[in-house]
Amino acid sequence: MAQRIVLLGGPGAGKGTQAKRIAEGGALSHISTGEIFRAHAEQKTELGQELQKYMSKGQLVPDELVCEIVAGRLCEADCRDGYILDGFPRSLPQAEELDRLLEERGESITIAVDLEVPDDEIVDRLSARRTCPNCGRIYNLKFDPPAQDGRCGEAACGGAELAHREDDREETIRERLKVYHEITEPIISFYAEKGLLKSVEAANQSPDDIALKIEEILSSAKAT
Ligand code: AMP
Repeated sequence: MAQRIVLLGGPGAGKGTQAKRIAEGGALSHISTGEIFRAHAEQKTELGQELQKYMSKGQLVPDELVCEIVAGRLCEADCRDGYILDGFPRSLPQAEELDRLLEERGESITIAVDLEVPDDEIVDRLSARRTCPNCGRIYNLKFDPPAQDGRCGEAACGGAELAHREDDREETIRERLKVYHEITEPIISFYAEKGLLKSVEAANQSPDDIALKIEEILSSAKAT
């Protein structure tokens, strides 16, 4: 059966890092709304500029626009055999719309995994986060630094200079956390009430340890 996974957690909880690993390990598509939006923003199209307006302030892109983009993405061929959603849904209306979209095709979310990290650790992690603009590899200057200062260590990237996301500055991080608690956190109960929620304690743990816990959850969900 195709796995359709929702990965939940605040900004900087490690969703991107873990989603990439899960997708590679399980041959699933990795759908990150943040990455899709940043790709639009880089192209400086009208849509990209509209999205950037919200992202640079740490605010959520309006539900209708997000859902329209995700609905299009879920129709692509690589989604047929399952996927992991990273950063979507991020509000109750988005979670409800996702259910509606899936129901139309006789599908549903198979599991929701929530990465739990306290706010102070999130601020610490995000202010030290750096991303390779070339391959998307995420580093942390404190916990997972690149071998060469400020440069990506992946062979294919030729030492590309790492970027500090505009929305990973402290003031914007605080705003993103506020938005997370007010608008996104309620969807944890939404999935709990459906019996789909699994929580993972993700504070003070290495990405490898967290990945191991997620793998266990996903393989026991697959077996049932
Ligand atoms: P992320 O890379 O997931 O942290 O997303 C970066 C930014 O993109 C967020 O701070 C929001 O501004 C926007 N964004 C990403 N996903 C969503 C979503 N599902 N709903 C609304 N805004 C989103």
